[in-house]
Amino acid sequence: MVQMTLRVAVDDRACIGSGNCVEQAPGAFALTDDGVVTVIDTTTVPDDDLLAAEASCPVAAILVSEESPHP
Ligand code: SF4
Repeated sequence: MVQMTLRVAVDDRACIGSGNCVEQAPGAFALTDDGVVTVIDTTTVPDDDLLAAEASCPVAAILVSEESPHP
């Protein structure tokens, strides 16, 4: 089975600082002093937590997608 790598993108301009993603995937996301999301390290948390963080965002500021394997 091929292990997929998830790509995580955040839109800090859309983020309203709810903190849901930080609750779902601590270690992957954090809030800056300005109260917007920043990515810490998405490789240290389970894929399910990243997907839960994406789903929990009230403004859809997190996009998790599968990274295409390089040929
Ligand atoms: S869940 Fe969405 S709105 Fe809330 S802090 Fe994370 S990115 Fe921002």
